[in-house]
Amino acid sequence: MAVPRITDLPQLVGTLPPEDRSRFRRLFEVVAGTGTLVPPPEMHSWIEGQFGSLETVEQQKIVRVVNRWTLEEALFNELRSRRPLDNTGGDLEAEIEATTGDPFCNLDTGTPADVFGRIRGRSSATASNVAKYEAWSAVIVFDEHNPLRLTEAGVDDAIRTAWAWAARVHQVDPPARFFLFMWNCLWRSGSSIVHGHAQAAVARRRHYAHVERWRLAAAAYRRRCRTAYFEDLFEAHRALGLAFEDRGVRVLAHLTPLKERETLLIAPSLTPELRRAVYLALSTFTERLGVRSFNAGMYHPPLAAPRAGWKGFPVLFRVLDRGDPGNRNSDIGAMELFAASVIASNPFDVAAALRQRFSE
Ligand SMILES: [Zn+2]
Repeated sequence: MAVPRITDLPQLVGTLPPEDRSRFRRLFEVVAGTGTLVPPPEMHSWIEGQFGSLETVEQQKIVRVVNRWTLEEALFNELRSRRPLDNTGGDLEAEIEATTGDPFCNLDTGTPADVFGRIRGRSSATASNVAKYEAWSAVIVFDEHNPLRLTEAGVDDAIRTAWAWAARVHQVDPPARFFLFMWNCLWRSGSSIVHGHAQAAVARRRHYAHVERWRLAAAAYRRRCRTAYFEDLFEAHRALGLAFEDRGVRVLAHLTPLKERETLLIAPSLTPELRRAVYLALSTFTERLGVRSFNAGMYHPPLAAPRAGWKGFPVLFRVLDRGDPGNRNSDIGAMELFAASVIASNPFDVAAALRQRFSE
């Protein structure tokens, strides 16, 4: 069976059973549009070469998906994946290799420690962030220099090391309760160091704004609709073939991705199965979808009480693709910063790749 296109979303929603359809519409609004243009004859052959045919660009289907509760929005147009970009080419593996011997290759002499020392895992250890964006912020440095050489054990270890660090921070500074795990891979993602590493931060007083936005949306949804937000978010994706469950972990190809190919992994707590799912999602990206630069982040309820207002909030990972490291163009422009995300990938393709990887 052919994989659906995101531009078919209005029709797909229309054919859902009534209960699924009303759940979907409770969560999302879909606005379909067509962009039209008239190319001069001088452009015809270039358009055909670049985009396949004239008709493809003369009538472009655009689908906007809005999450009514978080007010996240994505504008989908797959044609954008075929537009010309300024690519410097370059041999990425050679570039990665050329940076060996960096400070992260010499952790104990090249990076600062925290006041309580370092947390050491099997294949990763923490360093204190040398120029901090938060009072408690650490780098989880992998033994492996190459950030794309991922293993299930390595990903599991990185997340557990970050967790142990956060627990230690909370122990020495009890008001620090709001843990965030992050991972930037290669420069497109904002990473300043090539060597494989993740990051962790623990906030005081309140959780980070984007986490709060999701928590407040879920709380409002529960109050207004008398049903669980994350449950419905999953079911809405599953009804369309965009989500599945594997070993207690819910895997979603997000309908309002922040950037390309955003995947959500949701579990009731930070289980070994969830950590395994993070590895499987990342390896789907890097081994199946050609992703080289990605961001990942974990939302987690407070490490300690009080947890009022957090009932039913799961642990979830967001993983997304940041594009070809050879591109000079940023994937984030004024639209993303001030309005909504512009997306060229098809969530149905992402779901198909994830489903296959998880079923192996
Ligand atoms: Zn290194």
